[in-house]
Amino acid sequence: MVYRFRSFNWNEAISAGDVKMRACVIGGGIGGLATAIRLINRGWNVDIYEKEGKIGGRALSCKLEEYEKLIRKFEMKLLFSEPDMEEIRQMEGYKIDLGFHLIGGGKRGACVRLLREINANVNFIGSRLGFIGESIDYPILKAGDKIAMLPRILQLLLTRKSKIEEMKKISIDEMIRRYGRGKMKLVLELFPRLITTVNDLSKISAGETFFAQRELLGGDPVIYPEGGLEVMAGEMVKYIDAKGGKIFLNKEVERIVIEDGIAKGVEVDENFKEYDAVVSTIPVQHLFHIADKKEFPNEWVKYITSLKGTGSIISYHAFRELDKELLNKSFVFIERNTGFEGNDVVGMIDFKMHHGSGVAPKGKFIVQSYAICTPEEARDKDKAEKLAEIIEKNLEKLLPNYRKNMEWCIHAAIWHLDGVAKTIDNEKPSVATPIKNLYLAGDCVESKGVGINCAADSSRLVVEAVEDRG
Ligand SMILES: Cc1cc2nc3c(=O)[nH]c(=O)nc-3n(C[C@H](O)[C@H](O)[C@H](O)COP(=O)(O)OP(=O)(O)OC[C@H]3O[C@@H](n4cnc5c(N)ncnc54)[C@H](O)[C@@H]3O)c2cc1C
Repeated sequence: MVYRFRSFNWNEAISAGDVKMRACVIGGGIGGLATAIRLINRGWNVDIYEKEGKIGGRALSCKLEEYEKLIRKFEMKLLFSEPDMEEIRQMEGYKIDLGFHLIGGGKRGACVRLLREINANVNFIGSRLGFIGESIDYPILKAGDKIAMLPRILQLLLTRKSKIEEMKKISIDEMIRRYGRGKMKLVLELFPRLITTVNDLSKISAGETFFAQRELLGGDPVIYPEGGLEVMAGEMVKYIDAKGGKIFLNKEVERIVIEDGIAKGVEVDENFKEYDAVVSTIPVQHLFHIADKKEFPNEWVKYITSLKGTGSIISYHAFRELDKELLNKSFVFIERNTGFEGNDVVGMIDFKMHHGSGVAPKGKFIVQSYAICTPEEARDKDKAEKLAEIIEKNLEKLLPNYRKNMEWCIHAAIWHLDGVAKTIDNEKPSVATPIKNLYLAGDCVESKGVGINCAADSSRLVVEAVEDRG
């Protein structure tokens, strides 16, 4: 085996089987694991370095006793809980994720597609979405609504790709002015916000939203993995192990070593490790904590450090009893004229976490909820608490007197939900950087979907970019 830099075509060499190129992936979240899988499948030797002691990154599940310690590592803070965390920590048999987690696009999303490709053993609970309005509607769109909206929806969803490119410059606000009548208006007010986790409709691109929807036509809109979010990363790890990839936990990459515009490797534990490609999945705005900004063009540094993420307030409520009619369903709400950015706040309340899905003790139920906000609003204690109240107000509509059966609740704020918000004024970077052999992956880059899907799909773009540069 040969392991060094050379000036011949990587792809030819790899497919001839006479050389193993070595890649280093920084970060063991969904983006890093997915990238490792795809590179391994293309014949690369891959090492993953994860600075924490657990794999999964932000797609992490934990016991209640670990929760407070873990969230501090991921740009989150606890707002309040009932009873206090000291008491909640003692409650056994519960498993929660870092925060509200459902996967958009159901089984058509990039993450599930990748899991299928590696024959992962994960079962998902899927559902449609209900709406908490004057009354509770499940699903939001009844057959009659769909028939009334069908011609317009089909026209938008089946638009030619070139037209979608044009539509990328049009905001959803503008779309509502043009097409927003009756239920169609509600759909345009809700779904683009849910798809992007941004409330401000003037910042959401119509093309981006319809492109995302078109890709996912026909699946369950939201799904949750049985056994909790961590089973997805767990299955990816099994595959990587079986294929000879190496995962190093508690290993922080201290520096990406760049010389003459080429990434040569990384420094870990003060040792230099040489690689043919380096893929970073850390929050892109933090890239220059481990890479010398002098090596990059000034304009690119300015652009990357100016990129904004998304935020939200997330809540967990645990119950001793629950109306069985709600089990496994998801509901969305829109709280109007709140004074938050975008004026209306959209959120979701979900009933897929319970003893049946393996994340709560026998006979117990967890309800997970979130309300969208900006990272700045998530950091502001008063605003964050106001959003937690909005969540509880909507929960009460679904579960009147919910406190009677409530065992505990936790409210937290996150100001790094999605690495880079998918908005008109905040264009996501491509996976290739100005430095040869250095790539970006994860939910910060311009791949399809948001959150977990964006992170998983970025792996496809990294492989394409690596092979393009070959
Ligand atoms: C509270 C919350 C709720 C969310 N809800 C949803 C949802 O409902 N649906 C959805 O699709 N998405 C949701 N997301 C987003 C989703 O979790 C992320 O998009 C996805 O997990 C990102 O994966 P990633 O690999 O890009 O990044 P990460 O998971 O952040 O992985 C990056 C990894 O890099 C590691 N790292 C950082 N620096 C270094 C270093 N120097 N050396 C080595 N390792 C390093 C980190 O520890 C981390 O493990 C939510 C996120 C949060 C926090």
